[in-house]
Amino acid sequence: MAVTLVGAGPGDAGLLTIKGREKLAEAEVVLFDRLVGDEILELIPQTAEKINVGKHVNDHPVPQAEINQILLEKGLAGKKVVRLKGGDPFVFGRGGEELELLVRHGVPFEVVPGITSAIAGAAYAGIPVTQRGEASSFHVITGHAKGSEPLAIDFEALARTGGTLIFLMGVGNLGKIRQGLMAAGMSQDMPVAIVENATLPQQRKLLSTLGEMEAQAQGEAIQSPALIVVGQVTRRSEAYDWFMNQPLKGQTVIVTRARTSPSNLSRLLRADGARVLEVPSISIRPLWQDSDEFQRVLSKLQNYNWLLFTSRNGVTHFFDGLFSKGLDARALAGMKISVVGSETKKALKEYGLIPDYMPSTYYGKEMAQGLIKRSQKSESFLLMGGKVLSEDLPKDLQASGRRFHHVAVYETLFADAGVANQTIEEADFITFSSGSTVEGFVQSYPNLDYRQLHCIAIGETTAAKARQFGFQVEVADQATVAKMRDKMKELVRHED
Ligand code: SAH
Repeated sequence: MAVTLVGAGPGDAGLLTIKGREKLAEAEVVLFDRLVGDEILELIPQTAEKINVGKHVNDHPVPQAEINQILLEKGLAGKKVVRLKGGDPFVFGRGGEELELLVRHGVPFEVVPGITSAIAGAAYAGIPVTQRGEASSFHVITGHAKGSEPLAIDFEALARTGGTLIFLMGVGNLGKIRQGLMAAGMSQDMPVAIVENATLPQQRKLLSTLGEMEAQAQGEAIQSPALIVVGQVTRRSEAYDWFMNQPLKGQTVIVTRARTSPSNLSRLLRADGARVLEVPSISIRPLWQDSDEFQRVLSKLQNYNWLLFTSRNGVTHFFDGLFSKGLDARALAGMKISVVGSETKKALKEYGLIPDYMPSTYYGKEMAQGLIKRSQKSESFLLMGGKVLSEDLPKDLQASGRRFHHVAVYETLFADAGVANQTIEEADFITFSSGSTVEGFVQSYPNLDYRQLHCIAIGETTAAKARQFGFQVEVADQATVAKMRDKMKELVRHED
């Protein structure tokens, strides 16, 4: 299909449909607007052209006619176009208008419905939009009116239904809505709920009455996007509010991770109600392709007695380079192999190899001593690793008269995560799942007072690294992301 209108749901990324997600994954061009949540925007493929039609020159949105035109042009060019819209595309989303031009020009299209904020927003505030004996219908109404014009709404008809009334785009017109409904005979005591930023971590809920809602919303500075729910069912909101009662509700957590690996930890934390900000603080770039040195060394591997690896990345990038030359593990025949770290050992095993020597700690110094003990002075060592090397290993080997050669097959880049210093300082927790995420973070944020940051480390090695920089450190009971989350829940419980 050339053009697909996709409903992105009300904000919580989990409320995007599976079909919508699939369409997004294949997209070549994506047009999106203001109400689409950040987490969903992250699902847009890196290669896709992204067009933000919610923001334009001087912060004004792109005019509708222009959006229609872009859809047409991209569609005619045969691109896979996704038009991402908040909630459902056909519920006050102008989805219908966007199809007109496509129909006229015979451009094929599809519509993937979304979860509308009208229903989901109520559900996230603990409000069932229908309830036996209380509301046998619900009605979704626009509360928008041009300038000072009255609302074009048949309030009497609405009041007569006795159903739940859900107003979208109505924050600016609460006075007119109140007036209209009261003139139609609705009691000023009719309960009302206003839900701002529904389904998002910053969701706020105001419980009021028809008579009071305008003044109270102003008092609380309620802003768009918000939905206004009028009806008896809103009384249930307090008892049924599950969203505000999640164990990590109200907690902001910074999750540091490598750029390429999706974060399971983030998913777990969000499921418990936390607001998660991901800081991709490291990324790995292979170097062997462009390295003449690597090519030279490969052709004379037999000049070395030992092959050393100090990281999983060293192993995998070395083998990528080896395979690219049409060689395999037999090229290492006769060499001895030594690794640091159980992850590195595991990586090696995936290539059918077992190391001859692995020191019991992670330190280069111990590896050097172990190797010296196990080798002749005439033997030579080749390390396939990252660009930055701990100094102890080469220094000690060379001091003992042995030949040592280091080839960088990859490098660790410290990424700029684009999260402001202040946001980080205000977070409740920061998580580290490896020593390199600590280092990456510290490089990206050199000017923070780390003592103010409460961090959860996955294990002791990571914790030690974080303590070096002064962080307040808590360690998960076991080295898994689920245990990191559990530790956080435990700390939050104790605070209460
Ligand atoms: N197509 C959308 C509605 C677009 S009109 C849907 O189906 O949800 C925009 C209005 O939707 C906003 O003014 C607000 O009333 C409502 N809205 C959208 N997202 C919302 C959210 N996360 N929380 C509260 N209201 C929301």
